[in-house]
Amino acid sequence: MANNLLSINDLSKKDILDLIEFSNNFIDDEGNFRKENLFPDKIVANVFCEPSTRTKSSFAIAANNLGCSVLDFDIENSSIQKGESIFETVDALNLMGVDLCVLRHPESVIRELAEYLPKMVFINAGEGSISHPTQALLDIKTIMDHKENLDGLNIVIVGDLDHSRVTSSFVEGVSNFDLGSLTFCGHPEMCTKYQNPKIGKYESQLESALENADVVMALRIQYERFEKELNLDLETYKSEYQLSSEKLESAKGDAIVMHPGPVNYIEITEAVYDSENSVIRQQVANGVAIRMAVLSRFLGS
Ligand code: ASP
Repeated sequence: MANNLLSINDLSKKDILDLIEFSNNFIDDEGNFRKENLFPDKIVANVFCEPSTRTKSSFAIAANNLGCSVLDFDIENSSIQKGESIFETVDALNLMGVDLCVLRHPESVIRELAEYLPKMVFINAGEGSISHPTQALLDIKTIMDHKENLDGLNIVIVGDLDHSRVTSSFVEGVSNFDLGSLTFCGHPEMCTKYQNPKIGKYESQLESALENADVVMALRIQYERFEKELNLDLETYKSEYQLSSEKLESAKGDAIVMHPGPVNYIEITEAVYDSENSVIRQQVANGVAIRMAVLSRFLGS
């Protein structure tokens, strides 16, 4: 395995399956996370240059559960506000003894940082709309918790796919498996990169996309990433692309519904979020186990 987790493509299929199996050890029979004092001498810095609830908190909790010291880097009160670059910022943390940097950044800076600071371990916690590898790992784990194997599954992803790093990493991750089908659906202007995808197919009608689906992933509109004003009639958008109980009827009865959060209830109804098909809250919990596994593997290497 590489020294850093910069992209899901850094992992082989075996690495992905091993990390998922390893993550299961961190959950006890009651569903609680084990606390193991495995790395009392390691310092993990959480450097988030974009907002986050689940990813940031779960990395902090995972690192705490492993006995690490956690530095919650406060970007709003840091010298980044005085014009310091991310390179000097992370170098300063490196000089102070931080062992591992969990980085979320709107731009693709993580590769250069990893080359610049080879003694530090880097874990990508969100790179613009490009990648989010630990989200893909927790998504694959959640599917395997319910379906055991990804081979043969029909998976549908619906929403603002162009801006979604969750989609790009998920697609890279599941390309290791022999899926039954992978279908992309959403407003054509939000799916320009997915009209003729390398793997899978685009389907403009949500009901048709959902036919026979085993797994449905809904994604919010990432308003913050649109360069132009988005002239969207939300009611029309919802009637076409919102995952509702009626539309979900086209999927298999035991289909699981996923969403990385945060949920806006435009892309999915509250009824579907709360339905028996929904595994959205399990995804959040799986995030801690996966990040415990990732931190252990990369701190240990
Ligand atoms: N939380 C996910 C991300 O950071 C999805 C989203 O923000 O819509 O990419």
